[in-house]
Amino acid sequence: MQFQNLNIKDTKINSKSMLFVYNDNMKKFLILICILIFGIKSSAFNIVYPKNTNVTINANSTFFIGSSQTPLTVNGQNVPLHKTGAFAYVVKLNSGKNTFVICSGNQSQTYTITKPAIKFPFKPQQFVQYNKKRSFYVSTEGSPLRSSPFDGGINRMAHLQNGVPLLVDGEKNWFYRVVLSENNYGWISKSNVKEFKNFEITPAKFLGYDYIDSRDYFTFVFHLDKQVPYEIVEGDVMSIKFFNTNEVCKHDFPYKEAANGKKLIGYKGHYEGNDFILQIRKPLKHKKIKNIKIAVDAGHGGYEKGAIGCLGDEEKDITLKISKYLEKELKSRGAKVIMTRTDDKYVGLKERVDIANENDAAIFVSIHANALPDGLDPNKISGTSVFYYYNEAKPLADTVLNTMLTELKTNDDKVRQASFAVVRNTNALSILIETAYLINPDDNEKLVNPEFQKACAKAIADGIEKYFSAQ
Ligand SMILES: [Zn+2]
Repeated sequence: MQFQNLNIKDTKINSKSMLFVYNDNMKKFLILICILIFGIKSSAFNIVYPKNTNVTINANSTFFIGSSQTPLTVNGQNVPLHKTGAFAYVVKLNSGKNTFVICSGNQSQTYTITKPAIKFPFKPQQFVQYNKKRSFYVSTEGSPLRSSPFDGGINRMAHLQNGVPLLVDGEKNWFYRVVLSENNYGWISKSNVKEFKNFEITPAKFLGYDYIDSRDYFTFVFHLDKQVPYEIVEGDVMSIKFFNTNEVCKHDFPYKEAANGKKLIGYKGHYEGNDFILQIRKPLKHKKIKNIKIAVDAGHGGYEKGAIGCLGDEEKDITLKISKYLEKELKSRGAKVIMTRTDDKYVGLKERVDIANENDAAIFVSIHANALPDGLDPNKISGTSVFYYYNEAKPLADTVLNTMLTELKTNDDKVRQASFAVVRNTNALSILIETAYLINPDDNEKLVNPEFQKACAKAIADGIEKYFSAQ
């Protein structure tokens, strides 16, 4: 009733009030819509690294990797988002507990990252020399004999078979020092050997060698009166050193002449009784990759996911896709392709190498996508890198990387020598390709794109083909 007494002014005011009432409802409605939208969109706000909200990281900085469809802040600071929504955001760490609150829309997540206050420096043990030399034998198949007492780096001299006797004169940390000859030593992990009981190693005698020719290999059979540690020395002239003989015997064999100046591709060596059999792959005759056996190794698989990209994609899936495109590319050029896996399953590192070697692959290409450790900035590091272990694989690594950089226009992340299990395969020229960085937002966008995956496969195949045509 009161409404009826309202004058025009009141009515006007009242109509404004009505508008306000309407606006309030509208606001509530919009808020509800926003909650619904943010609610839905917040499911797309995803942090893939750090993997837990409470972690310990021993570095001066770390990063948040993930994606968001709405503006995102870390401790109130805006995080630049890639057009895909991907982000990599570096944060400094102080000693002790560091708290980070991540907000996007109406969602927030708190991370507690602890940086250990004291970093205990590693104090290496001093070398302990024994009064009397001790006799051991290899108890783990394929144990690395190293040139230095470190597990890592480019220090492998040979992989020794079970049963090879070793004369030991001291120890340092987790390694025994192996006497190879006077003032010449190697190192072997204590866990890879056992001590002989009542047996003393005496010097071996070298009794000469035979050469056997076959279609695919130059085969040398070295005769000794007992097994000894050895080192195969690669280079223009390949040679083999047998130790624990009266003196180091170093044998150059007619590889260079037989190979007619061609580069070494691969070799394998093992004991059969007291004979050491060394098989060196003959140079491949044709300049094309037709009929050449190439092993394609899709990195990771099954429960071993590999790196996780900003957008949540897993390395194991991307490597499999690129590997399958590569299989197609290589087969279309006449190569014989051996896949170490064709579906999402776990395959061990040794098994991957075994598959390639059982099939006598001459080339081994492992496909990966990269990530970075804490302390680095994923926004500043990107691109393609190729790894090798043995020097003979470097020209292949160089050619494949250069071809990829030209065709894919990715950043040059260099050719590097590294001790990865799959590139320590000597039977084939072995390389490992980090196609691009999954935790770099720009690279991540490329890696999940099927066109880039195909281009990547084509560039790798082109690179391998170029390597052969340049031989
Ligand atoms: Zn990987």
